[in-house]
Amino acid sequence: MCLAHGLRRAGIDVAVYERHRDRSDGLLSYRIGIGPTGNKALRRCLPPELFDVFLATCARSPRYFTVISERLRETASFELRPDTDPVETERSVARMTLHQVLLTGMEDVVHFGRTFTHYEQRDDGTVTAHFADGTTAVGDLLVAADGTHSAVRRQHLPHAVTRAAGTVNIAVKIPLTDHVRSLLPERVRQGISLIFGSGGIMGVLHVMEFKWDRDGRLRPDLDPTDAALLARWPGLRHDATRDYVNIVIWSADRHFPADVMRLRGPALIDLALRLTRGWHPDLRDLLAGSDPHSAMPIRVATSEPIPQWKASTVTLLGDAIHTMTPGRGVGANTALRDAALLVEELRQVAAGDKTLLAGVADYEAAMLPYGYARVADSLSRNGTNGDDPLYRPVVGRLALLGARGYFGVTSRIPRLRRRFVDDFYTYRGEND
Ligand SMILES: Cc1cc2nc3c(=O)[nH]c(=O)nc-3n(C[C@H](O)[C@H](O)[C@H](O)COP(=O)(O)OP(=O)(O)OC[C@H]3O[C@@H](n4cnc5c(N)ncnc54)[C@H](O)[C@@H]3O)c2cc1C
Repeated sequence: MCLAHGLRRAGIDVAVYERHRDRSDGLLSYRIGIGPTGNKALRRCLPPELFDVFLATCARSPRYFTVISERLRETASFELRPDTDPVETERSVARMTLHQVLLTGMEDVVHFGRTFTHYEQRDDGTVTAHFADGTTAVGDLLVAADGTHSAVRRQHLPHAVTRAAGTVNIAVKIPLTDHVRSLLPERVRQGISLIFGSGGIMGVLHVMEFKWDRDGRLRPDLDPTDAALLARWPGLRHDATRDYVNIVIWSADRHFPADVMRLRGPALIDLALRLTRGWHPDLRDLLAGSDPHSAMPIRVATSEPIPQWKASTVTLLGDAIHTMTPGRGVGANTALRDAALLVEELRQVAAGDKTLLAGVADYEAAMLPYGYARVADSLSRNGTNGDDPLYRPVVGRLALLGARGYFGVTSRIPRLRRRFVDDFYTYRGEND
């Protein structure tokens, strides 16, 4: 959708085909962190007022990145940058809300209920996409933005494979009530908290507070500009997102039953409670209050890098080409960066400065190195790889002590602390 906005603003015809039935379909209930890379791409591609809506619909930005033990003991806490700059900030975004922002004003561009099946490249330079309902669409370029299990990639680059990273996540949402607030230490309530649990059980906790209340009414203390912007924005009517805590628990595959991907609702919450048996009662109280409809298992995936291929009228972006684990929290940021880059290339093609195939080749040559660098880096972070020493029987204890020690020391030495916070932002930037 970011690409579609950018192309439309550049005066290039675009159509999006989405398998979801309508704009509220899909289990898009979780948090996503959008940092400077994603913010910049959105600012480049969205109409300016819609970018302001994006900013206004983000949850309160995290003030702290805190590392805690499963007993709720603080190992380290880093104060993050104040939310004063539109792009140089880590933004907490509800996926469904971002989805609604990106769909705004695009009713004539997006075609719902269209599941892509295969494509044909024709001698006249066009490409035809085929959908499960028997319909087709013809264009000059087909862009696969269809995620990890991309049907376009399967046909176009059958040797580009994804594989399980060896870990499973259970994600839940807990409605943010006064009781839930009372269970959270102050810095945890105001930020992102990484839980290094003993026995190889990891977690992350995000508190999401929005500018509207549980009835969807704008809060009275809102900045008047935001209030006017949100009052005009039709997207809120399609979005049932309300304040919540998002907890994700993860570990190596062997900690989960073989049928974990089929579990839903209370069965999944029970499993999360079993995995966290020794955790602090307040954390378990939180988990027990999870909304059963929100509970979701995720088998973490990663991709195998491939060399650049010969450019054609089919290209790919985001998870369709570089699925990465959530280890660095940059998959969506990287997808947005791809979109902004591809818009720039296609703008030059439309201006007659290069041919379509040269524009696609230049996009792919620039995108693949940073995309695969993030795939590799994500796999080595925060225990998203099942082979991580954290999950080994004896070594695991040492690895846990090492990880806690690293965060503890880094947070206490001012120079290291500053570098850690800078890295938190610059990694997501475009300098590497
Ligand atoms: C637990 C977890 C936490 C994460 N946290 C972060 C984070 O904090 N920050 C971050 O940057 N990234 C994060 N990520 C990664 C991020 O979610 C992905 O990288 C991002 O969603 C990729 O976007 P995409 O548009 O490429 O693919 P997707 O978001 O998967 O979108 C693909 C779209 O294509 C549609 N589609 C699929 N197949 C078809 C078809 N055949 N026909 C028609 N439509 C189709 C789907 O319905 C969907 O709408 C996280 C991932 C996980 C698992």
